[in-house]
Amino acid sequence: MQARHPIHRNALVLFSGGQDSTTCLAHALANYERVETLAFDYRQRHLVELEARIEVLSQIRQKFPQWSPKLGEDHLLDLGVLGQVSETSLTRDMAFKMEASGLPNTFVPGRNLLFLTLAAALAYRRDLDVIVTGVCETDFSGYPDCRDDTMKAMQIALSLGMDRRLLIETPLMWIDKAQTWQLAYDVGQKAQALSGGDQLVNLIVEHTHTCYMGDRTHRHDWGYGCGTCPACDLRAKGWERWKA
Ligand code: ZN
Repeated sequence: MQARHPIHRNALVLFSGGQDSTTCLAHALANYERVETLAFDYRQRHLVELEARIEVLSQIRQKFPQWSPKLGEDHLLDLGVLGQVSETSLTRDMAFKMEASGLPNTFVPGRNLLFLTLAAALAYRRDLDVIVTGVCETDFSGYPDCRDDTMKAMQIALSLGMDRRLLIETPLMWIDKAQTWQLAYDVGQKAQALSGGDQLVNLIVEHTHTCYMGDRTHRHDWGYGCGTCPACDLRAKGWERWKA
């Protein structure tokens, strides 16, 4: 885990309500003095994730009362315009498949660049100097706008363009899904020595949402989901490896 730099005290977490961004949120609450959250509504196929995030925030306040005073405003920005420039299986009713480019058809070109730019603008206004995002190079998808080099380039571009030092922190960049479960456990355990690790893992299992199909009817050991889409597959396999 990266040590907190003394001048970086306040963080904005890109928080979608999934496993990864909830782990990032817990990490930020453990490391920063003030934490705000941000999500984008870009007409996802399912609003389940956006609903999940409200519940996750409420559960975190209940289960980790020491974090509650640090957890500040939650922001939701409308990005419906993304649907006008992209045709992907996340914004349209299309099946998931790999394209000839080698990228899955869930890829929305430039989406994460837009997210970071808007997050930086909001961070500027809210006086937050770190953006925490759950992007990951070890992920199956290989989205080019989630890679480490892209993050570093964005950090420089945004810091220069806003004339303010901005840090983009990526706690999950080099870890896999099994290690992401472990990170959540460790952060929870550090916050509450008796049962915090299990509490945070259980909260993530029960209340976060990752499934591309928006399935909240099938309950598995690792949480709710259809069990067959790429997101469920990744989450389930990570859980199994972590438990093993
Ligand atoms: Zn699924």
